[in-house]
Amino acid sequence: MNDKDCIFCKIVRGEILSFKVYEDGDTLAFLDIHPVAPGHTLVVPKVHATNIFDITSESWAAVAETTRKVAIAIEGALESDGVNLMMNNREHAGQIVEHPHMHLIPRFKGDGLKLWPHGAYKEGEAEGVKEKIRGALN
Ligand code: AMP
Ligand code: ZN
Repeated sequence: MNDKDCIFCKIVRGEILSFKVYEDGDTLAFLDIHPVAPGHTLVVPKVHATNIFDITSESWAAVAETTRKVAIAIEGALESDGVNLMMNNREHAGQIVEHPHMHLIPRFKGDGLKLWPHGAYKEGEAEGVKEKIRGALN
């Protein structure tokens, strides 16, 4: 996918209409067209990338800061009881649009929205998993 054909790049360029809630030099925030709840917003970098695995550190920092600002605005404006932040990275993690985007989802007491189920580690498993991830960070 290049930026010419990318739907979120088209939104950034104004070639496709969107309900913009915030814009600065590096990022854009607009309403998700199929919201989990009214106010469900997407924050995207203006520079094209695919997901968390190739976004630049600078672009990611800008997305994080815009996410912080807009989450506060959503909670205040919509009087929500919380906000979920979620990012899908790659197909099997639920990513459909191949341009990095953070979902900001306002939550309300008793809204019944279920996120992922929690599991449990087998005896000794957590140690091995921790070591693998630590090894990849060195
Ligand atoms: P994901 O599954 O994380 O890739 O989510 C992509 C999101 O983009 C979905 O929640 C869609 O509803 C949303 N979406 C797709 N096209 C548009 C659009 N033109 N304007 C706003 N949101 C969109
Ligand atoms: Zn793009």
